[in-house]
Amino acid sequence: MGGAERGTLMRIDRQRLEEAFEALGKIGETPKSGLTRLALTDEDKRARDQLVAWMRGAGLRVSVDRMGNIFGERAGSESLPPVMMGSHVDSVPTGGKYDGQLGVLCALQVIRTFNDRGVRTRHPITLVIFTNEEGARFQPAMIASGVMAGKIALGDAYNARDRHGIRLVEELERIGYLGPEPCAPRPIRAYLELHIEQGPILEEEGCTVGVVEGIVGISWSRLTLHGVQDHAGPTPMRIRHDALAAAADVIRAVRAIPGQVCPEMVTTVGRLEVSPNITNAIPGRVFMTIDIRDPKDKHVTGALGLLARAVKDAASREGVLTELERSWQVSPISFHPEVVGAVERAAEALGCRSRRILSFAGHDAQYMATLGPSGMIFVPSRHGRSHCEEEFTSMDDIEHGANMLLLAALELARQV
Ligand SMILES: [Zn+2]
Repeated sequence: MGGAERGTLMRIDRQRLEEAFEALGKIGETPKSGLTRLALTDEDKRARDQLVAWMRGAGLRVSVDRMGNIFGERAGSESLPPVMMGSHVDSVPTGGKYDGQLGVLCALQVIRTFNDRGVRTRHPITLVIFTNEEGARFQPAMIASGVMAGKIALGDAYNARDRHGIRLVEELERIGYLGPEPCAPRPIRAYLELHIEQGPILEEEGCTVGVVEGIVGISWSRLTLHGVQDHAGPTPMRIRHDALAAAADVIRAVRAIPGQVCPEMVTTVGRLEVSPNITNAIPGRVFMTIDIRDPKDKHVTGALGLLARAVKDAASREGVLTELERSWQVSPISFHPEVVGAVERAAEALGCRSRRILSFAGHDAQYMATLGPSGMIFVPSRHGRSHCEEEFTSMDDIEHGANMLLLAALELARQV
């Protein structure tokens, strides 16, 4: 970008972005201004239909792939791989209006701005909306970008079932988004995703935006403890094999793992199922999940070793049997220096207060980074909160983020 152009930086139309945000936020809105828009529900369909209408209105060539991912392409001056920008429009139950759809709407607004200004780029620019990012309805999370990156088999994704036993592929078909395009690895010039931070760091440090350097590694484990179910009265303490007592030892140990491995690590036991779960029986069986996240693979491996030892110790103390299995794992990724650089230059050009930051939440960008140079822009989350109705980001911060997305996309797509 030349010095002359710097003086008159292109900016998005804030009012138009706000209007789109308000209109889309009505679809699946909760009474407290949050959002319930689970993947592939009627609400998701209505949000998709609205976006497709807006994309067509912006002159984009819209296509849908076999996982229901939606693409809207703005042609480049040459037939080259596209700069992709986007995120997701599904939400968790009683979630917020910023997680996901903000990235889609900012990308749309960037394209509308290019149209208004008659901007031409060498590379095409493609808006992408990924299916079922949250994993709230179908597991795992980021399932559709996972298929696109060749990391999850299409058949496995189709067979994912929600808690009512409905298959993902049935729902794709029902809402009319089982598209014809292959969902497979494809060349990209770059992938850019704007997203809320979902943590407190940017707000604490008074930053408007975050230049995301990468995403931490995530490991999920499942543990089942088999004790002996018995009467809570006549069974003396000395002969008990209490699955929940052993589980409590494991939970405490999991909580202590970051202190032994790395201060940046986070560990969570988020799900616990106790059987028979009644007042007057010693628990015979407990199921739990363990979520471990860290910027370094070797730390995750170290934590898994400590977890295995804690499980063994707890089992032998209480005399219970255990089954520990790893259910899902993604390695940490570093975003591409060229894209991180473009995002950082955009922040500087706009005079934004920014810092480099790591994402501790998974995003579609994690899989897209395996297809080509990728990067993310974070905007602050008030009080660090997300996945709740209180989720909020100020329009000033959003505007800065969207303008950074615009400048970074322009640099990567090579304006002509
Ligand atoms: Zn998200």
